[in-house]
Amino acid sequence: MSEGNVVLAQPRGFCAGVRRAIGIVERALDLHGAPVYVRKEIVHNHYIVSELEKRGAVFVDSEEEVPQGAVCVFSAHGVSPGVRSAAAGRQLEVIDATCPLVSKVHQEAVRFARDGRAILLVGHEGHEEVEGVLGEAPDRIVVIETEDDVRRLGLPDDTPVAVLTQTTLSFDETAKVVEALRARFTDLLTPGDDICYASQNRQNAVKDLARDNDLVLIVGSRNSSNSLRMVEVARDHGAAAHLVPDEQHLEAAWLEGVSSVGISAGASAPEILVDGLVARLAELGFDQVELQRGIAEDVVFSMPGRLADPVTGRVPQTPLAGEVTPAPGGVR
Ligand code: SF4
Repeated sequence: MSEGNVVLAQPRGFCAGVRRAIGIVERALDLHGAPVYVRKEIVHNHYIVSELEKRGAVFVDSEEEVPQGAVCVFSAHGVSPGVRSAAAGRQLEVIDATCPLVSKVHQEAVRFARDGRAILLVGHEGHEEVEGVLGEAPDRIVVIETEDDVRRLGLPDDTPVAVLTQTTLSFDETAKVVEALRARFTDLLTPGDDICYASQNRQNAVKDLARDNDLVLIVGSRNSSNSLRMVEVARDHGAAAHLVPDEQHLEAAWLEGVSSVGISAGASAPEILVDGLVARLAELGFDQVELQRGIAEDVVFSMPGRLADPVTGRVPQTPLAGEVTPAPGGVR
């Protein structure tokens, strides 16, 4: 058996937008009872989705699958105006869990489109967040991902353009793409801080983990953009790194020749999954656990007013605990 230590990243796991989104579904279930329909995964984590399903949430791919007039929560990744009007057409009772930092990017897209600029949206084609922003001005927005995409853009270099980005990208990779855009376009606006605080903080912590440890494990689901970026950041900074949806995906072979393992978790990954991975590593001889020195986050987003208590009128606080409330008998 190997012997070694484990370093837990700080910060890691749930961000303010994820805590709020999960809290919204839980609160909607409390207020309205099951079923509460949720368009797409509320956040990209399979454990969270399955715990909420046990409590009565029904996840659907499209608002068209929600019965007329039913309660429907929009996920943290946001939706296009087309989805909003389709939901209105079905008289759905919409509760919007879009992260306020994603909503900010939507507002920027609307503003730049109104100003007559072409909008270059740096992000991953097909990702829900990108689809939502794209829907704000489909004729004006072009999605790009790499420096090669910048070279291939069929726009004159003096076109007035604005750059927006998906909130969960790699900070360093995106900076390269923006630099290539700056070098090419003469009238370019870059609001510049679309990559959210949570993505930046987790990436910075992962850089330190990668420097100080032989192996970095990122807890997160395979469709979680910010978790995937954290794996890339760790690799770019010299560590072997893997995405680990839960402890069952840990491969003992990864630990050969390794004396220290850094662990972090994507913004949608609950701490219970980190606990499971730490316990599994302890069984394999990695039983010295320490906490990375890092920054503490205190960002909290308020809950939508429509979730107010019907009697007292009080709007509940966003949960701070960083966990989904387990369904009765539903703790793994
Ligand atoms: S990762 Fe950032 S943008 Fe996404 S929900 Fe969290 S705070 Fe909001």
